[in-house]
Amino acid sequence: MAEQQWHDRAAALETDGRAFIGGERVWSRSERRFDNLSPIDARLLGAVAQCDGADVDLAVAAARAAFEDKRWAGKAPAQRKRILIKFADLILDNAEELALLETLDMGKPIKYSQSVDVPAAANCIRWYGEAIDKIYDEIAPTADNSLALITREPVGVVAAIVPWNYPMIMAAWKIAPALAAGNSVVLKPSEKSPLTALRLAEIALEAGIPAGVFNVVPGYGHEAGAALALHMDVDCIGFTGSTRVGKQILQMAGQSNLKRAWTELGGKSANIVCADCPDLDAAVSAAIGSIYFNQGESCNAPSRLFVEASIKDAFLEKALPMLPRFQPGDPLDEATIMGAIVDATQMKTVMGFIDQGKQEGAKLLFGGAAAREDSGGFYIAPTLFDQVDNSMSIASQEIFGPVLSVLSFTDIDDAVRQANATPYGLQAAVWTRDISRAIQTARALRAGTVHVNQYDGDDITVPFGGYKQSGNGRDKSLHAFDKYTELKTTWIQIG
Ligand code: NAD
Repeated sequence: MAEQQWHDRAAALETDGRAFIGGERVWSRSERRFDNLSPIDARLLGAVAQCDGADVDLAVAAARAAFEDKRWAGKAPAQRKRILIKFADLILDNAEELALLETLDMGKPIKYSQSVDVPAAANCIRWYGEAIDKIYDEIAPTADNSLALITREPVGVVAAIVPWNYPMIMAAWKIAPALAAGNSVVLKPSEKSPLTALRLAEIALEAGIPAGVFNVVPGYGHEAGAALALHMDVDCIGFTGSTRVGKQILQMAGQSNLKRAWTELGGKSANIVCADCPDLDAAVSAAIGSIYFNQGESCNAPSRLFVEASIKDAFLEKALPMLPRFQPGDPLDEATIMGAIVDATQMKTVMGFIDQGKQEGAKLLFGGAAAREDSGGFYIAPTLFDQVDNSMSIASQEIFGPVLSVLSFTDIDDAVRQANATPYGLQAAVWTRDISRAIQTARALRAGTVHVNQYDGDDITVPFGGYKQSGNGRDKSLHAFDKYTELKTTWIQIG
């Protein structure tokens, strides 16, 4: 669709910011609302319900009632499968609208909302739907006079709290396995990007997920989010967000009912390029493409690039000419590959890190400035710092913006030591043609995912999650069911 057509559709769009509780759109009990601004041009998209504890109580009660009367949990897995597949189909039927909402709400290019976010969310829901009637329980090898059944049961009411960087995908990673397993869900989207989550709930109802099974409470973290984390009738919380808030979630779970709490948190991923890298062009294009994708607002962005000293100049010579391609453009233009930063606060944070990088002595080789300022929105040029030291704030803290820090190393032990010198452990990569070095390095890197000679490996079939302060849970793959099910043993005496 042409840029102007997207703009016309955006101008005609009426957003609905009401919560979704018990199968109905409702404003918050308090009637409080907040303004939802688009990062593209800071225009008002509409009002959103500012849910708090009272609304969370209603949503949890609706979810609990739905769980207890088994309107969803009691369906055969094959029935849940059919409905989840319909849900996925309807997401694709509404792809243009969902893509437009995603782009307007969080600023990512429409090209990627259409080609990545909508299809990935639909695929996730379809995959867990397809999986659920193919999973068998176990019988333990006990003595002849007994039968010990080991079965999985849904935990009950699952709260999902998600961030704004991939609003639909993050929501799908939680709700798909939780719903497939038979749970009821209360989803709290980020206050910065609530619109697609609310539409997903309507679409789920249309697909046949019974009212009350999937509820959405938009609002602020310290109100709606904290009310969920502290709720005595929430059995499990699936959280994706910052490490700072992840720590609070675990505390709130402990303070309340010891609900199962799963956290998927921040990262500062290391990308190690050795001098014997098999394909330098591929390494350059993965390093650059992955850090600037989604405006650098990706938890697994390879924000620390370690290049072996002997090839660093050659690497940068190839990398720097690629950066102008990532100059931010109008997110509603299908040619744009880097869009807007989610809001003024995030823009200020990223610009603050850029200033700190300069002050701490890193060498700014590209970018470092705001862009498209006359748009009224929030844009930052692709930024690259050389001569970065691991102790500088741009190397030690998660920036969550389009900023790449280039560091160097002398041998692979030095690279691994520097790569692991971080509280985070989400992802890492190593580029080498030496298979033994690749495997040894992959083993030595303390990260949930290690890439070898690529960075974009990604599939719903593989787990996604971190070591250390990048969290304790795994989204995606069959392993996600572990989070949303309880393991029950039933001992039966025979004869
Ligand atoms: P955030 O922690 O500020 O917010 C995440 C969610 O938590 C939001 O819905 C927010 O409203 C809510 N929240 C905030 N304070 C809360 C509180 N006191 N109690 C309960 N809920 C609260 O994170 P963000 O800025 O939205 O997202 C960016 C972060 O998410 C980055 O650190 C990024 O690395 C991380 N992330 C991790 C993954 C992963 O899979 N590991 C994926 C995407 C994003």
